[in-house]
Amino acid sequence: MAESLINTSNSSDLNYDTNSLTGSTPSSSVSDNVTHDTDDNSEGKINVPFSLKSVESLLSLSKTATQEDLNEMIEKCKQMILDSQECTDERKWLVRRLIELRLRAQELRESSDVNLFETQVILGHHLVPHKYQIPSTGPLYCDHCSGTIWMMLQSWYMCNDCGFSCHWKCITDIRRVCAHVLASEAGGYIFTKEICPEKGLSAQGYKCAECHTRLTFTALKGLSLPCFGSPFKQPESAWVEPRLCDYTGLYYCQRCHWNTMAVIPARVIRNWDMEPKRVSRLAAQLLQLLNERPVLLLEQLNPKLFELVPDLSLIKKLREELQMMKKYLVFCPEADIQRLPWRIGLRTHMIENSGNYSIKDLVDFHNGVLMDEIRGAYDLMREHITESCELCRARGHLCEICGNNEVIYPWDPSAILCQQCNAVHHRACWSKRNHCCPKCARIEKRRSTNNDQNKEDYIDS
Ligand SMILES: [Zn+2]
Ligand SMILES: [Zn+2]
Ligand SMILES: [Zn+2]
Ligand SMILES: [Zn+2]
Ligand SMILES: [Zn+2]
Ligand SMILES: [Zn+2]
Repeated sequence: MAESLINTSNSSDLNYDTNSLTGSTPSSSVSDNVTHDTDDNSEGKINVPFSLKSVESLLSLSKTATQEDLNEMIEKCKQMILDSQECTDERKWLVRRLIELRLRAQELRESSDVNLFETQVILGHHLVPHKYQIPSTGPLYCDHCSGTIWMMLQSWYMCNDCGFSCHWKCITDIRRVCAHVLASEAGGYIFTKEICPEKGLSAQGYKCAECHTRLTFTALKGLSLPCFGSPFKQPESAWVEPRLCDYTGLYYCQRCHWNTMAVIPARVIRNWDMEPKRVSRLAAQLLQLLNERPVLLLEQLNPKLFELVPDLSLIKKLREELQMMKKYLVFCPEADIQRLPWRIGLRTHMIENSGNYSIKDLVDFHNGVLMDEIRGAYDLMREHITESCELCRARGHLCEICGNNEVIYPWDPSAILCQQCNAVHHRACWSKRNHCCPKCARIEKRRSTNNDQNKEDYIDS
């Protein structure tokens, strides 16, 4: 098996994806090992077998190696594979090193091309080049061809705005418009009212909504199930299963739809349903991008939700009270030193307004995280104003109606804030006075006396 691997994959026709190695021999144990062991993209992860310690430097992946050095090492490595025992760690390591050497050689040829190291602006993406990078996350796949991106061995691009990633060789063919552009144009989500607005495959002409590949329901040419090099790869002329995107309601091919799971805004807003559903790559990027942005005016989008989920009204009330407390803190030098209210780690928009939510807020609210966060911030801010800070305490109110010397604050349950003049009274006193604010009455009286005075002056002159 190793022989066929070596002979069929000449370094000149080596494809970027591993399918050229695994596609033709899906049952081969060697190529299976190649796929799985190398999927983590890290050349350092397999330990060098003891017997090959001395060989390692002969087949070095040094960045200073020239094209000639690499060709020589490839030949040497091929010979060593042929000389090694089947199914041993030695062979496994050598096969892997062969792939790495070939990728490095191809990379070297390509890097002499122009434009490789400049940010490319294509379809709204800002594609920043990357090269020989040690992967900090799991394997990365190309958003165009869905093959593996070998981060340590290849040049590749990633969009700064939406995370779209692709091989260097795929950049000229990409079709997907940047999700950041779509989100900006729409001012947030496009579908918040309709749940999975499906139109049907016939309306799409039985083609993928993004790349227009023909979608089929049955396997062609007697091929049973497709075998993928990467989890999303679709083989040529085989069965192209239509995949429904729960966000857009459109059908996609496997290249444009990787069965990524995401929470669907319309399901949350309509049905209070946080269950993640399968979405296309475009939708996944868009939903990820907007996940923490407070673009949903929840009460406006679905007022009935506040009856269904009573705690939503409680959160709204707490947020309104946080805004009142913020007015104290922003004028307090002591709070400024303590970096209140920002230090407490509460998401900023919770204190800025009382109606905007992000999808993450709603998911966190559903699992209790948001309520804890808000209550923690609330207690801390109130403690500063009403107990620990003399400056803030001095800005408390006295009820003018009863003249009692108890200090009250607008968020106290026993107090009420006059919406016209911002005076604070006892709720009970306010009711006794038939909701008449003495301060407002005083202001009104002064205004009418002034008007009378002005009239008299006018007549006199
Ligand atoms: Zn982008
Ligand atoms: Zn690609
Ligand atoms: Zn497609
Ligand atoms: Zn203070
Ligand atoms: Zn009172
Ligand atoms: Zn008033």
